[in-house]
Amino acid sequence: MDEEILHDVLEANRRLPREGLVSLTWGNVSGRDPKSGLVAIKPSGVSYDELQIDSLIVLDLSGAIVSGTLRPSSDTETHLELYRRFAGVNGIVHTHSPRATALCQLGLELPVLGTTHADHFDGTVPLARELTAQEIEAGYELFTGKAIADCFELSGVDPVRIPAVLQRYHAPFAWGRSVRAAMDNAVALEVCADMALAMLAAGRPLEPIPTHITRKHQDRKHGPNQTYGQTAKRSATGG
Ligand SMILES: [Zn+2]
Repeated sequence: MDEEILHDVLEANRRLPREGLVSLTWGNVSGRDPKSGLVAIKPSGVSYDELQIDSLIVLDLSGAIVSGTLRPSSDTETHLELYRRFAGVNGIVHTHSPRATALCQLGLELPVLGTTHADHFDGTVPLARELTAQEIEAGYELFTGKAIADCFELSGVDPVRIPAVLQRYHAPFAWGRSVRAAMDNAVALEVCADMALAMLAAGRPLEPIPTHITRKHQDRKHGPNQTYGQTAKRSATGG
């Protein structure tokens, strides 16, 4: 397991309470090493300020523990299922952040309501269905991952382009190409959910913005000619 990724997973878990995304220990971050395929995740029930590098659990995609002495997060099976199904995703954040969770409880998906959303998500953040009684009995966390992955597969939505989901009656999951990107997407989702709730409180419908505005924001942040941030190409040419 790459040391830098372990460090990113540690830092991201510590960042959860600082970003206001978790109360108690209601959140966990994992990271996948794309070279080895191994996944590092937070141990179950350990407070964020007590976390250390060696308290993280490293597993393979089948769930076999490679290193770590503590019990992995109770949501581990969900993370593993998403890594198995979502190629290109190397970081996953699960929280019960209150505003995104409120949308889950209201049963609302999150359309592109403004450019803040468009910078991070290339379309509506979908609402994944709740689990059946049989699924909960058979394996709650595994079937949570299956319901989320199915939601993207069945609708043909690319999870790399829309790196988050709201699960009905439960809470959000966000992800990204890296652990840091996943964290940024989790923060962005909570901010966008906050703005959506403000619009609902003002009695306004959640109507999506014109697609050409979404396109522009996606392209300048993620497209081949991106102009956001300090890319190697720009600094190399002094641009
Ligand atoms: Zn949860």
